[in-house]
Amino acid sequence: MCDLSLVVPCKNEEESIPFFYKETVTVLDKLKESHSIKEAEFVFIDDGSDDKTLEILKSLSEKDSRVHYISFSRNFGKEAALYAGLSRAKGRFVATLDADLQDPPDMLATMFDAILNEGFDCAATRRATRAGEPVIRSFFARMFYKIMGKLCDIEVVDGARDFRLMTRNYVNAVVSLYEKSRFSKGIFPWVGFKTKWFSYDNRERVAGTTKWSFYKLFMYSLDGITAFSVKPLMLASVLGLASVVVSFAFIVFIIVRKILFGDPVAGWPSLVCIILFLGGLQLFSIGILGQYLSKIYIETKNRPLFIVREEK
Ligand code: UDP
Ligand code: MG
Repeated sequence: MCDLSLVVPCKNEEESIPFFYKETVTVLDKLKESHSIKEAEFVFIDDGSDDKTLEILKSLSEKDSRVHYISFSRNFGKEAALYAGLSRAKGRFVATLDADLQDPPDMLATMFDAILNEGFDCAATRRATRAGEPVIRSFFARMFYKIMGKLCDIEVVDGARDFRLMTRNYVNAVVSLYEKSRFSKGIFPWVGFKTKWFSYDNRERVAGTTKWSFYKLFMYSLDGITAFSVKPLMLASVLGLASVVVSFAFIVFIIVRKILFGDPVAGWPSLVCIILFLGGLQLFSIGILGQYLSKIYIETKNRPLFIVREEK
């Protein structure tokens, strides 16, 4: 067991890793003095990179015995990479951070203060602003956090990053949640404990490009909602009930009109509108059911979250 494990998911980060390693090693040296964090280890996860990421990790681990790596057989996604790293980490404290230096490692010192001196179990980070992000993306991100806040009982913090420092207890709790569709932004608040939040300004990644397309983010947010809320399922019933009430009123109206004015053949447009509206409502509801059904399907297959090709 060591004092600190640094868990770093990497997908095609050949350009960033050398910068990251250099900066983090300086921070570790400082932590030795300031917080008596003597022994540390790196747990890099090569998440199916198709550039030289693995070669770089191998050569780092030859030079520095603190560097360990897990290389996946293909890309399993950041959530799987984080899970692999957290279950492999041996430290009394564990930090998760990105390889692109968007999560400044020098913040670890103040994060340690919160845990060692103020009694928190986790020091978490969020970005203060969304500066430097495309406007449309910011808009949808804000919408997502609003919807999430309404639908879920746990508090999903706007702009929360995956950059965290955690105690062993906290990490054990997170690893004990072995669900397949993992949504960290929900899992961390779900396990509870005392968390202190730190804000920092958004940084540009040091090299390389982001792996998140808009489509990926959208699917990820749907995962988040279905993983932590069953309220959309209730929405179907509520909509159904509402349409029954409206239909009833409509039926009464039609009967009264028939009695008063006879039955002139008309009403084709309104009929089409009703059919289309109710058809849409039904498909929408079935779609929500499908979302949850697909989650059950994936969970019951119980496939592993990731497959390791090689590790050290
Ligand atoms: N990452 C990963 N697997 C993936 C996508 C990303 O391990 O499928 C890693 C990536 O190498 C980086 C971190 O997750 O260290 C965050 O990714 P990125 O910087 O692309 O996301 P952003 O910072 O733009 O949210
Ligand atoms: Mg990044």
